[in-house]
Amino acid sequence: MALRVMKFGGTSVGSPEKIRNVARRVGRACEEGDRVVVVVSAMGGETDRLTKLAHDIASRPDRREMDVLLSSGERVSIALLAMAVQKLGHPAESLTGRQVGIVTDEDFTRARIREVRGERLRKALDEGKVAVVAGFQGISPSEDVTTLGRGGSDLTAVALAAALQADVCDIYTDVDGVYTADPNIVPQARKLERISYEEMLEMASLGAKVLYTRSVEYAARYKVPICVRSSFNEDEGTMVIEEDRSMEQVLVSGVTLSKNDTKLTIEGVPDRPGIAAGIFSPLSEAGISVDMIVQNVGRQGTTDITFTVMKNEAARAMEVMKPVLEETGAAGVTADDHLAKLSIVGIGMRSHAGVAARMFKALADEGINIYSIGTSEIKISCLIEAKYGELATRVLHDAFGLEAGAGTREMDL
Ligand code: ASP
Ligand code: MG
Repeated sequence: MALRVMKFGGTSVGSPEKIRNVARRVGRACEEGDRVVVVVSAMGGETDRLTKLAHDIASRPDRREMDVLLSSGERVSIALLAMAVQKLGHPAESLTGRQVGIVTDEDFTRARIREVRGERLRKALDEGKVAVVAGFQGISPSEDVTTLGRGGSDLTAVALAAALQADVCDIYTDVDGVYTADPNIVPQARKLERISYEEMLEMASLGAKVLYTRSVEYAARYKVPICVRSSFNEDEGTMVIEEDRSMEQVLVSGVTLSKNDTKLTIEGVPDRPGIAAGIFSPLSEAGISVDMIVQNVGRQGTTDITFTVMKNEAARAMEVMKPVLEETGAAGVTADDHLAKLSIVGIGMRSHAGVAARMFKALADEGINIYSIGTSEIKISCLIEAKYGELATRVLHDAFGLEAGAGTREMDL
């Protein structure tokens, strides 16, 4: 008898018919003898609808009230799903974030989980009930409702799986696993059987939309095995687990493309100690994350600094930097948002040389220019012109033999 956490996203519970479908799936797990905790998101589109309502009332809605509002979406789906499961003859009980004791900090709309108490949850399971838990929400120490950031139901599921030491955390979604590239861009993309937490983390933060980044961090910390699978078919999904030796054999696990970055270039900053700190400290204090930083070689006492920020934070970044730039006498800032970030990810890069060279050559052979390069131990990212993004993704998928399965193993570099 296994203990399973099953999470269903908004598209999986988007209509009464889909909710009945989820209930049948949950019912089958019960019939197999598993103890089941189900975590659900709001019905598809609901969180967007609520967000829009708030913005119709206020241009900058109060964040505490925003969470009261947004958390209502998940309340609807847990009640409906509990009813649907009961109708199939299985005892079920819906539980809110407060009832299961998901305690967070007070950072409304993007709260962090501090503790999962879970007494009510254990009680429901002990009584032989299916616990249907609202994703995405928690409660602050002073008992205000909080939410965990868009996509946060994944995090709820992983946190409950960790607290209960569940055997697996199934994330049911509208794709049937993690692919070597977005199948809409690369039709030959292949579903991965397994992927390490670390690779998944890079892929999630680089634009692969299957899992919420923070849920992968959490899973890695508590070693929660995640299975990403489709809610519409019975196919095996992709396991996201701890890395093992055999995974290292694979050079590159996936290619990702994201068009969410803006490149900012600060021209003519004085080339002296403390300038980079002076520019980046205010950005970090404002909670703006910065990536792909390049500082050019200085000429005649000045230099250029280039970096990327999320598109939706670019205007704020410019604002935050203004006083510093005036102080340092920088010549100006330019923003470019016609770029895409193309990345390859794989733990095999740690132990193999020549991966970067192969990536750059494949792009060069297509005449695609690289504007900036960023690397980590298991990732290489290039900024290229956005209009070539899809083509470049296919080119790299091919260059690393990803469709072939075994193709990437120790290939002739
Ligand atoms: N309903 C929330 C959202 O749409 C949380 C989630 O779906 O994971 O972001
Ligand atoms: Mg989601």
